[in-house]
Formats: sequence, structure tokens, C-alpha cells
Amino acid sequence: MSKLLIKRGRIVDPSQNLDTVMDILVEKGKIKAIGENLFELEAQLIDASGLVVCPSFVDIHAHLRDPGETYKEDIESASRCAVAGGYTTLVCMPNTKPPIDNPHVANYIIQKAKSVGLCYILPSGTLTKGREGRELSDFYALKQAGCVALTDDGSPLMDSRLMQRALELAGQLGLLVMNHCEDDTIAYGHINEGYVSSLLGVASRPPQAEDILVARDLILSYHTGSPLHIQHLSSALSVELIRYFKGKGAKVSCEVNPYHLVFTQEEVLKSGSLAKVNPPLRREEDRQALLEALKDGTIDCIATDHAPHATWEKGQIEKAKAGMIGLQTALPIALELVRHGHINLSKMVELMSCAPAKLLRLEGCGALKVGSKANLTIFDPEREWVLDERTNFSKSQNTPLWKKTLKGKVIYTIYEGKVVYSDA
Ligand SMILES: [Zn+2]
Repeated sequence: MSKLLIKRGRIVDPSQNLDTVMDILVEKGKIKAIGENLFELEAQLIDASGLVVCPSFVDIHAHLRDPGETYKEDIESASRCAVAGGYTTLVCMPNTKPPIDNPHVANYIIQKAKSVGLCYILPSGTLTKGREGRELSDFYALKQAGCVALTDDGSPLMDSRLMQRALELAGQLGLLVMNHCEDDTIAYGHINEGYVSSLLGVASRPPQAEDILVARDLILSYHTGSPLHIQHLSSALSVELIRYFKGKGAKVSCEVNPYHLVFTQEEVLKSGSLAKVNPPLRREEDRQALLEALKDGTIDCIATDHAPHATWEKGQIEKAKAGMIGLQTALPIALELVRHGHINLSKMVELMSCAPAKLLRLEGCGALKVGSKANLTIFDPEREWVLDERTNFSKSQNTPLWKKTLKGKVIYTIYEGKVVYSDA
């Protein structure tokens, strides 16, 4: 059936300043009408009373592990995980094996994502060949192949001359440079530097490692006039630096990961290596600074940094790989922030959908306008569920939230007018 009629949902679309109970009619993959008491005999009916209807989520930071490490995740499992979490757009990170530093790998991902057909998967390319930080990739070729951004995520680009050149070139091509900011001459450890790292006797990653590289990149972006996106912000001082440079008119944006908004370094004492992420979970003061920055607009978007790893890669903390899965837990975490009054629902949708779509100029995403592609998420903010073997779509289980009760559940995800996920 090519028509969908979504009845009586609370439509939240900050791109149009919309927060009201109405109906939406979807026809031929597009939004045909938004209004009260819509009627269409031939449409499949979705009763959305008591549910929130919003533009589907856009994740600009996800690790799909395909090609090369498909025992952790692949494009199909990641797509299923995405739509179960309310996402219909993923920007995948290029630290695959081989990395996305040439058009062949980008083409492979785009083709495979199309054949799965559940959501948009947009590759980012590497800043440097082999992610080695020595020689810039061919940005033009990567753009031609369909890459939407450039990053060496996981491996910060340390060479300032190369970073400056990357900003200039990418700026001319209209590609967004996204950097993982941690000075790796200081950040060679495993968890935040503080009493927890002392208690456990584990080598650490201090916040100044992040602050140094954030400051350098802000300065380079300011002087070149080229857009810069800072990935997974975690330190209070970095927040202040970004606020300062935004005030000076620098073309800078940044993201925060859900786990930095709800966990602190103490989580390592409870969850061990499952709480190991880069940059690490930090102090409560840092978390508070991030929450404040969400409110005042210093932080532009929430990105998952979905980072699947096998169970055997999450053993002893010094040997464990860093990262958590996050596509299905982002919404419950964001809703927790709403319940605690840090942000409202409209701001949440902006952070998870409208703002990231706008940042990468993704057409047909991040808005529910009549005539635009019907990419939407319908969720129940109150429904409780448990992330376990039955509900998890990832091939991996690495999150401190495993087997925990979460509040807020996606009920339908609609991609170009098709129901690609349903839990009705
Ligand atoms: Zn990442």
C-alpha cells in the first residue's frame, strides 16, 4: 500500500515550530498533507494517539564495521538497529578495514546500503590516507564517490599543517571536516584522569588532551574561515572554548554523545570496560557543562558514536576496545534529559534530527514539510522496555545499559513512505 494515514499524533517539528496534535497523510513516499481530520479511504491507518511523531533521527557519527569487521556489525544489522532506534540516516565513520580513503570503499558501502534499503547510509571519508595522519586523502575523489564529510575519527589528526590544509581544501569542496580532538601524546590511557584512574591504577586520558586539540582546531577554523565540526565533546573547558569561538563568528559546530550526558567516570567502577569510551566519561562538572551547552545552543547535535565490539574485545580494561553501541539507546537517554527538564521535546528533536540534517545539508531529512520525503519516527515517550537479546538488533551487546529497563520506545520508523520498523 503506497498510502499511510497517521492519525492524532503529537507532531513535533522544530523546523516549522510545530508541536500540535494532527494527522499526516503520506503518499508515494512523500508527505501529502498535514492537518486535522484527514481522511483517505485507501490508506493504511496508523493510530498515533498518545505518541510523538517527528522527523526521523539523523546520526552523524556511527561505526558500522563494514567492510572488515563484520563480526561486530555490518551494513544490514546496523540498518536494522538504526531504524529500531528511530534513525533513517547514518553517517558512517571511515575507520573500516580497509578505511574509506578511496572511492572503492565508499562505493561498496553505498551499494550495500542501497540493497539493504532500510535507511540512508552516507559514508564519511578519511582526512588522511590509511588514517595515518601523514598525507591527505584525495578529497575530490571521495566527494565524487558520495562522501559527505571527512574525519580520521579514532585517530586525531595531530599535524597542524595538514589540518590547516584539510580545512582549506575541504572548505572549497563544501565537505565538512570533523575531528576527533584528543592530543594522543597525552591521551594514551584508557579512562579519564582522576580519582577513578588512580584508584584502579589505570593509565588515563586527561581532559587537557581534548582541550588542546579543540583549541587548535578552533583557531585553524577561525583563521581559514572553513567550517569545522568537533566530534564527541566531553570536557567543560572545551565547551567554553567553543562558546567563545562561536561568539567570534567561527564556523564551528559540535556534537555530544548520549553517554557523556548521563554517565561519569564513576560508571567504570560499576560497568568496567563497558564504560570505556574515547574521549572518556569524565567528571560530574563536565557533564553539567555539557547539559548547559545543550540548552544554550553551544552544542549543535546529539550523535550516537555507535561503536559495536564483540564480547571478547571488552575484557580487561587496559586491553579492551573503546566504545559502546548506541543507536537504540539514544532516544531513551535523550528522553531522560527531557524528563529531568534539561531540554524540552522540541529541542530534543532539533538536536537529533533537524540540526544534524542541516549541518550536512541533507535534503528530505530533518523536517516534516508537505511535499518532502516522508522520513519520520513515531515513538512512545512512556513505554518501558529492556535492551536484551530479544530487542537488540546490533550484532554486539557492549553497553552499560544492557539488560537495563529503558523508558521511551520507537513504535514506527518510516523511510521514504515505507514502514521499515514497527513495534505496534
Ligand atoms: Zn567514533
